[in-house]
Amino acid sequence: MPPATRPAAARRKRGEGQWALGYREPLNKNEENKKNDDGLNVRDRIIGIYSKAGFDSIDPADLRGRFRWYGLYTQRKPGIDGGKTGSLPDEELDDRYFMLRVRIDGGQLSAEQTRVIADISTRYARGTADVTDRQNIQYHWIRIEDVPAIWEALESVGLSTMEACGDTPRVIIGCPLAGIAADEVLDATPQIREVHDRYIGSPEFSNLPRKFKSAFSGCTAHCTVHEINDVAFVGVVNDAGEVGYQAFVGGGLSTNPMFAQSLGVFVKPEQAHEVWKGILSIFRDYGYRRLRHRARIKFLVADWGAAKFREVLEKEYLGYALPDGPDPAPPLPRRDHVGIHPQKDGRFYVGFAPRVGRVNGELLGTIADLAERYGSGRIRTTAEQKLVILDVPGENTEALAAALAEHDLQVRPSTFRRQTMACTGIEYCKLAIVETKQRASDLIDELEKRLPDFDQPLTINVNGCPNACARIQVADIGLKGQLVVDEDGTQVEGFQIHLGGQVGASFGKKVRGLKTTSAGLTDYVERVVRRYDAQRQEGETFAQWV
Ligand code: SF4
Repeated sequence: MPPATRPAAARRKRGEGQWALGYREPLNKNEENKKNDDGLNVRDRIIGIYSKAGFDSIDPADLRGRFRWYGLYTQRKPGIDGGKTGSLPDEELDDRYFMLRVRIDGGQLSAEQTRVIADISTRYARGTADVTDRQNIQYHWIRIEDVPAIWEALESVGLSTMEACGDTPRVIIGCPLAGIAADEVLDATPQIREVHDRYIGSPEFSNLPRKFKSAFSGCTAHCTVHEINDVAFVGVVNDAGEVGYQAFVGGGLSTNPMFAQSLGVFVKPEQAHEVWKGILSIFRDYGYRRLRHRARIKFLVADWGAAKFREVLEKEYLGYALPDGPDPAPPLPRRDHVGIHPQKDGRFYVGFAPRVGRVNGELLGTIADLAERYGSGRIRTTAEQKLVILDVPGENTEALAAALAEHDLQVRPSTFRRQTMACTGIEYCKLAIVETKQRASDLIDELEKRLPDFDQPLTINVNGCPNACARIQVADIGLKGQLVVDEDGTQVEGFQIHLGGQVGASFGKKVRGLKTTSAGLTDYVERVVRRYDAQRQEGETFAQWV
């Protein structure tokens, strides 16, 4: 019987590759690669060998494995249609160019850093630069020969691509308004910095069972979507009036979506880094390594439950008990930070929406200029593929909004522009079945024309495959790319539709047989939105209505 179909009880009996239970021998190719050589060691080979000798010199175990430890993935060779995805060997899908992800912990950028990112885009990435839904910037068309120069430029302004991908603690997301929001519970910036500086790039944590996504935030909108992170620290105030964090573990989407569970603890800000380290260590030691699809912390948390997880954390890793703590207040209906809003210091922040996170080098340079001209130069990325300029005096806000609008960056976007997200899709992603970014952008344009007065919160998330990079399971309308059959019986690009997802509350329902071709997508979405708009009761959300 193949491992994937063994009954759960049998699987558990022979172990799931947990190091802490003695299963140290690699049980699959990924684990073997990691044992053979730490992913962090590939940096020296990239600088010393591959960038000089070129693409063909790259060891396949590095190319398709360890490169990820530095944010590098081969991109999809152009012209291979979605029907071939999964059926071709990697060598045929791999282009000779790379996607490169820059980690921006907390989404915090200065104008200088933004200019460097912009310059790299123009020089080395054919102008590409996407803001991801984890606050990163993602380039395409990167040549291996240029990687050392790109790293040098990034590192000169304190940025890096280290552990941006791979089985590592990836970018730590944070509220873009940390330190300036009038209603924040606390500013999580010091904790994000401390965790980053102590543990990112440490060989102690560079071989995890799989990726590990973290968030630290004191934002009342809950913009870091703590419910779907592997670990999230959320600002709370305890009964004694002290400010600290509640810790959530085990959230994640993809094929087995789960919401994170509260550990019910109270973590003082100065303790947060060691509690984060304890949770990460549990994942490293007890996480399931046998099967890749079970190698996320959510499966361990689901099996153990929050109470056992907390007990192991306290007894085996911290050596002390954490006090009980409250859960945070519920989120706001819109978790982004789009629009013009006051900061606690009397100045304003201006959040704006590019189309589905797509910007480019030239535009990023312009954004850096505007941030300096109208604000203090501070720029933030958000976890919803948006950007924010901070510290704008009241008298400058409208001039900044107008300047941004000249570049199609909207401060007062329609619901559709504001709340539609799309993953990378077939343009560059080897796993993709359908095109996403352009499709979503066209969808926004059409819906704005057809439904100009619709102003309710409504998320539309577009994925190019069954993975969850654009979080389809928690969207009001989640669109999962796949091949479908059109009226003539021909296989064409299309989407499986999930309806009524809501972060922290419900996963979208996959309505049996509810699929649309890409060509029929706009008509379908228009029909659903019109029905919702006509039938909804006052205050009724899409997820409640559907
Ligand atoms: Fe690629 Fe699928 Fe992720 Fe989209 S959801 S970026 S197609 S892996």
